[in-house]
Amino acid sequence: MKPSKVALAIHGGAGARAGRDYSKAEDHLAALARRGENMLKQGAPAIDVVEDLVADMEASGLYVAGKGAGPNCAGYVELDASIMAGGWTDASEREFRRNAGAIAAVKHIKHPVKAARAVMDDTRHVMLAGVGAEHFCRARNFEFIDDPETYYVTPVGVTPDELASNELAHGTVGAVALDDNGRLASATSTGGVFGKLEGRVGDTPLVGAGTWADEYVAVSCTGLGEYFILAGGAQDVAGRVRYQGADLHQAAAELIKDVARLGGNGGVIAVSRDGDVAFAWNSEGMKRAGFGPDQELFAATF
Ligand code: ASP
Repeated sequence: MKPSKVALAIHGGAGARAGRDYSKAEDHLAALARRGENMLKQGAPAIDVVEDLVADMEASGLYVAGKGAGPNCAGYVELDASIMAGGWTDASEREFRRNAGAIAAVKHIKHPVKAARAVMDDTRHVMLAGVGAEHFCRARNFEFIDDPETYYVTPVGVTPDELASNELAHGTVGAVALDDNGRLASATSTGGVFGKLEGRVGDTPLVGAGTWADEYVAVSCTGLGEYFILAGGAQDVAGRVRYQGADLHQAAAELIKDVARLGGNGGVIAVSRDGDVAFAWNSEGMKRAGFGPDQELFAATF
């Protein structure tokens, strides 16, 4: 059996507040990291693993994505997601180019990450938004939410007042993975920031801002999306690694420093083709889990 060098990082958002109990989310993230580890060790492609784990987080109601998403200022939920596969070359020198898919400002799709994957696999586009995106999903018999009033819940660690008030800013979900063929992938899904304007789209579905995967790294961001867009987001981390030869941890920390300098906050997770796993944030906490060749599986918030 060939030695497997697999790695994974997942996050449940960087909107965590000190003093609150996130043990339920941490248990869930630890279980997902274990599931991801099993999948990767059995040879699953990184792209399938990140999609599967993000879809589970979307359905859990524990995070501000999918079931746990908060409403915009007009009182309804709009969801964004993206997914990206890094390029790679297989054992017979066949080249696979990187590819990505995204979905933005959709109201009724149960699993935005699966919709993003379908945009990547089945269209010649990278992003579909709004009504057209919903038509695309209807045509593929994706699961829809027909009872938004009862489906959405208040996620763990968020009070109903905060949800209504725009106070507690954010809490997205994301996953990055390296599989045993050296392929990298990333996926991110969100309900966005609380109280956002109708039609507002943040960094999460923007390939290069909220999500990125290439031949070197896979990156997923969470936080006040506007600042991540202005800081260059996930692609800033990738660029530092690719063009400067920066250490992954340093590159992740530099992005967050830049976000902070601009006045924002949030966090980032990343894995490299060498199996490094990095986490950086400047908010009070970031729900996260992961493992790598040099990193025992763990889950934590603060
Ligand atoms: N980045 C997301 C957005 O701005 C929110 C988050 O990560 O919590 O839409």
